[in-house]
Amino acid sequence: MSPRLTHALLREWAVEHGFGQRGSVPPDGLLRPRQVHGACVELVGESGWEEPPEADAVVSTLPGRPVGVVTADCVPVLAASRCGSAVAAIHAGWRGLAHGVVRRGLDALRAAAPAGAELRAVMGPHIGPCCYEIDAPVGEALYRRFGTKLSAALRPSRPGHHWLDLGRLVRHEIESAELDPECIGSLPASCTRCDAARFHSYRRDGVRAGRLVHYICAHADGGLARPLDTSCGSS
Ligand SMILES: [Zn+2]
Repeated sequence: MSPRLTHALLREWAVEHGFGQRGSVPPDGLLRPRQVHGACVELVGESGWEEPPEADAVVSTLPGRPVGVVTADCVPVLAASRCGSAVAAIHAGWRGLAHGVVRRGLDALRAAAPAGAELRAVMGPHIGPCCYEIDAPVGEALYRRFGTKLSAALRPSRPGHHWLDLGRLVRHEIESAELDPECIGSLPASCTRCDAARFHSYRRDGVRAGRLVHYICAHADGGLARPLDTSCGSS
């Protein structure tokens, strides 16, 4: 069993979370949507779900209940409001990004969080610019959302193709949701396609590829009731 990967930005707030590796075991009771590479955000209510809804972002304020997404090259984003009273898990591939899934997920997280609460967001393992080649139609779809900012994430490859830095676009979207740069994190560079020992990759393994499971859990001790200026470190 491989340990899940965690990030200091969320550990400092004692937010239970994990980015999956090959062989990591998902937590019991995990709620995750049926992902469709869209931009729908699902809010988890008191009773959870009877049927998983179609969505690519989940926002929850349900204490102690993990919510998550799966990926195999796309970018997973786990985010929380201060002290973890509200959390979000987002699945961002090029389609979802082009439709604004990251921004919509973070806007929904902000709406679910206490007014004015600081947000933090962390990007997990995903395909790197070393391995993610896109063609012109994909570039055009992304250009419609990112405009001239897209070019900084592209490097020419074969004629009509480019290498895309998907993580850079996700970071741009997180910044557009008005998170401070020091509130945005990512795991150390880890390309899912290059690192076969640790990660599943659709680009490498095709339809046989497994999925990495990523999750985050709203704080079990009722962060909503706490004043925002209370320290909520792991001590
Ligand atoms: Zn790579």
